[in-house]
Amino acid sequence: MLMFFLSACHSDELIEERSFLMGTMVSVSVAESEKSSSDVHLAIKASIQEMQRVEGVFSTQLENSVQAFNQSDVNQWQTLDPEVSDLLVQAVRVMNQTHQAFHPMLGQLKEMWNFQPDAHKVPLDTDILQYMQSLQDAHLEQKGTQWRRSDAVIQLDFGAIAKGYAIDRAIETLQNHGIANAVVNAGGDIRLIGQRFERAWRIGIKHPRKADQVLGWMALKGDLSLVTSGDYERFFLIAEKRYHHILDVRTGYPATQSQSVTVIATNATLADAWSTALFVLGFKGLKSVHIPADLDYLIVDQQGKKTMSLGMQKLFHSQ
Ligand code: AMP
Ligand code: MG
Repeated sequence: MLMFFLSACHSDELIEERSFLMGTMVSVSVAESEKSSSDVHLAIKASIQEMQRVEGVFSTQLENSVQAFNQSDVNQWQTLDPEVSDLLVQAVRVMNQTHQAFHPMLGQLKEMWNFQPDAHKVPLDTDILQYMQSLQDAHLEQKGTQWRRSDAVIQLDFGAIAKGYAIDRAIETLQNHGIANAVVNAGGDIRLIGQRFERAWRIGIKHPRKADQVLGWMALKGDLSLVTSGDYERFFLIAEKRYHHILDVRTGYPATQSQSVTVIATNATLADAWSTALFVLGFKGLKSVHIPADLDYLIVDQQGKKTMSLGMQKLFHSQ
């Protein structure tokens, strides 16, 4: 009997745990036949805890340095958590690379639109115009981990990048526990390492208009991230018009170019930021930006037409 129990944990079965985090269902799946299931569960729990910690550090709804900054007096230096400061540097870089299609300071515009259930509203055009003028004139300055804003219109919002960052930290936590084969999946945003025993990981991409159907799938191995931004994730309809949560600060309205954009990159932080940026830019806006060389994309435009980078074409299989 004892022998049986000792060897029972060595099998080609995935070990998986789920938790509701960052507003979505997160799963951590590990494929390690040489490790005991208790060691694997320990590693998974640590990675989930790490994502919870990251959520606490970046959420605008919790007492943290992001909230303190957003409530601070204008023109006053404010110290951000070093982790927040570092991610803000990366976020500002993507903002500049994408002509503000990705914009990590649009918290106030998000509040004006309010995508909370039961509180839907379309802001007045005059309010949107005033907002855009104020944002254009506003400045953000950095001195180490200290930051200051010239106008309260600047409200930090890490909603389009922090989930990717949390996924990266979760993978790092698994690796620190000796795990080399795993997938972290936060509501379809994924980073994978290694393989699923002798096989590749099979990853589906959600169809932007057919719930519970996939647009296609890929067989992936190694260290890769795959993140999707879609207009179907959080939206409301008024007179059949779709108002969704990915906003374009250059118009003040939800972005209109795409139904969904999937990005593959080595880390989930960049994949997350760029999936949002390319969603806003759309196929037409691609030419105006320099896309990092190691990044691949699949854009589904408003008509449902797909455009893929060369690398994506090699990986993508239609349904
Ligand atoms: P994602 O699902 O990664 O595309 O991120 C969407 C979330 O990021 C929204 O819920 C907002 O919190 C925030 N957001 C919306 N539009 C933008 C944008 N253009 N740039 C940066 N963050 C945005
Ligand atoms: Mg994103």
